[in-house]
Amino acid sequence: MASLRSENIPPFIVMEVLEKAQELERAGQDVIHLEIGEPDFATPAKITAAAIAAIQAGKTHYTHSLGILPLREAIAAHYNRRYGVSVSPDQVIVTMGTSHGLLLTLCSLLNPGDEVILPNPTYACYPNFIRYIEGQPVFVPVHAGEGFALEPPAVRQKLGPRTKAILVNSPSNPTGNLLPPDVLRAIGELGPYVISDEIYHGLVYGEREHSILEYTDHAFVLNGFSKLYAMTGWRLGYIIAPKEFVRPIQKSQQNLFICANSISQWAGLAALTEDHPEIPRMVATYDERRRFMVKSLRELGLGVVVEPTGAFYVFADAHCYTSDCYTLAFDILNKAHVAVAPGIDFGTNGEGFLRFSYANSIENIAEGMARLREYLSGK
Ligand code: PMP
Repeated sequence: MASLRSENIPPFIVMEVLEKAQELERAGQDVIHLEIGEPDFATPAKITAAAIAAIQAGKTHYTHSLGILPLREAIAAHYNRRYGVSVSPDQVIVTMGTSHGLLLTLCSLLNPGDEVILPNPTYACYPNFIRYIEGQPVFVPVHAGEGFALEPPAVRQKLGPRTKAILVNSPSNPTGNLLPPDVLRAIGELGPYVISDEIYHGLVYGEREHSILEYTDHAFVLNGFSKLYAMTGWRLGYIIAPKEFVRPIQKSQQNLFICANSISQWAGLAALTEDHPEIPRMVATYDERRRFMVKSLRELGLGVVVEPTGAFYVFADAHCYTSDCYTLAFDILNKAHVAVAPGIDFGTNGEGFLRFSYANSIENIAEGMARLREYLSGK
């Protein structure tokens, strides 16, 4: 009998859609993938070359539990340069992806019963992580009309004696929207630690994104190389933590994981310290797909009130077609062979929505939209 903890964690529905789509593909169907939040580009050449060089130079052993010093220095320098903040390398902990960074951060902050405030809808895994370590997610509803932005007065109403942190993610998964700077500032002034998942930084189309560290030091930054550098499989990320948390996180890292992958760390150093002509090209391509997808979804009658300007997602309102988006998403997959994520994966306020990822070619997106048009015309 598996433990209650592992019995009770809900599945990540996006992955369930992907796995079902792959089952259809094995049976000979051709499926258009608009469900998965994963760049469809290759990792830039200089990053790959740095990894190969690291292997050949024998940099294939355990590293310091906090990460190799040149990478920690490069991460601090990146934040200092890009956001004009003051981060020291000894605040940086290198992790195996942002997911691992989130786990270590929550473990360092929460005792059982402690609360973390987060928007609803939100990245599906956040509340599952919190509950997994016996914390309590406290949700603040956010709305399409306001670009799904957290409203600081609504957050303030949820503050209580057990509140340990407020979790923000801008640009956001699943909505693709950015939090305005004044909202980030106001959230930073509320008192609890802010955990800011900045994994989609760099993937913005117009507006500039801001780091929480521009507004408060009472914060944990989570970031990683998966999205901007198209490095999902390399499993590399980091935490920038208040200094007093580094030692507790380090002890957890030493015991639970030892360190992040050495080869990926050397690759990450190249990601931050070299120029990559591929990256502006990827960002321009995402932008072109974004505009095409928003236009196509609106033509289908799927609501996109505030145009998303970050990450690679559109969170579209499908209430005119359903009040059960889970069933709708699987029906679209089975009948139209287009994989999309049901909004309910991201919280109760995501009911009636579908999340579309544009990390796919414009030809595939166009084919997906055509199939969807035909499917929806029968509804
Ligand atoms: N945070 C958000 C908001 C994400 O969308 C994802 C990936 N889907 C992650 C964290 C996890 O990323 P990583 O590959 O760095 O673990």
